[in-house]
Amino acid sequence: MSTNHHDTGAYALHALPPDEHAALERHLARCETCATETAELVATAARLGLAVHTVPPPELKKRVLRAISTVRQEPATRATIRRSWWPAQHLASLAVLQCAAVFRVLAAWRSASANGPRTPAPRPTTPGSKWTSPLC
Ligand SMILES: [Zn+2]
Repeated sequence: MSTNHHDTGAYALHALPPDEHAALERHLARCETCATETAELVATAARLGLAVHTVPPPELKKRVLRAISTVRQEPATRATIRRSWWPAQHLASLAVLQCAAVFRVLAAWRSASANGPRTPAPRPTTPGSKWTSPLC
């Protein structure tokens, strides 16, 4: 069983086993940082769940390719290259990986939800808990 600060994402996506879920709820009642992070993750997951998939108009690709062919690319300067590129690239990669992980878990969660009855979002049951779900 894990009761560390790293389970908030899985908790927000209802992906924790019951014992870890209960342990994290106890932790959320004591740790304001994790409670805040969890509330934000739950809200984000809810917004992602409401996202609507739309098909772009077929002419959009042609318009973008035509427009981008007229945009002149600025050459990289030595100052640009020498600038600290690694942290920005690394952070961008991490952000993409995090988004992909969130979407993957969310898709699995939605798939599981479609196959069974929906259950309300779990809320801490510990008395005196400061955490409240933004969905309620
Ligand atoms: Zn914590």
